[in-house]
Amino acid sequence: MPTIFFGHGNPMNAIEQNAYSKRWEEIGRQLPRPSAILCVSAHWYLPGTLVTAMAKPRTIHDFGGFPRPLYEVRYPAPGDPELAKRVRTLLAPVDVELDQHWGLDHGTWSVLCHVFPEANVPVVQLSIDETQPAEFHYETGKRLGALREEDVLLIGSGNIVHNLHTFAWGRHPVEPFDWALRFEQRARELMLAGDDAPLVGYEQLGRDAMLSVPTPDHYLPLLYILGARREDDAVTFPVEGVDGGSVSMLTVRFG
Ligand code: ZN
Repeated sequence: MPTIFFGHGNPMNAIEQNAYSKRWEEIGRQLPRPSAILCVSAHWYLPGTLVTAMAKPRTIHDFGGFPRPLYEVRYPAPGDPELAKRVRTLLAPVDVELDQHWGLDHGTWSVLCHVFPEANVPVVQLSIDETQPAEFHYETGKRLGALREEDVLLIGSGNIVHNLHTFAWGRHPVEPFDWALRFEQRARELMLAGDDAPLVGYEQLGRDAMLSVPTPDHYLPLLYILGARREDDAVTFPVEGVDGGSVSMLTVRFG
């Protein structure tokens, strides 16, 4: 099974037919059908490693100030309590809590509602422990890579460049910032070269990295996917573009 990092961007992508959401639909049509999906979303970022373990995860509308139709979206994919337990076993001795409270946040459903619109593949979310260094997230991804052999689609959902201070709200067709383009290009080159260390140590990549990754939450999901990569995986970028000048919509597919 391939493993994929999605740049999810604006929650409105969930209900818009645009260049990004159309490509997500195409990706879904091209993928082998997974037995389940494990998603690491930028929007479940807290102190601890939790995995959703309920049979019927709710759709969480974790944002404010958007039009009403976005709050009416439901993504009724089932959960997969057995997969949640499998994740806990794989990650031992990391203390993984089987969670009954969260559900599917928009980092997950705003993309999956296009990739798997029928919502008939079980979905489990894994949280990002905000107290852990970047290496932890990369190593966790390595361990989760075993799930690819079990027909589980491991996805990360965030944005490689995500700066909302400079984001041009309501004016999407703006020129990307030069630092955003440079950092994204650097990341692509490193991924094509299979050179993970600078991507894990992104804080050492200078000013472009500081502006592109002002907070770690949207970047860290990429490290899980990098960790789950195998040497013989093909690397492709099936979705490209920078939204609002400072949010990279790059999708990275391994395998
Ligand atoms: Zn987001």
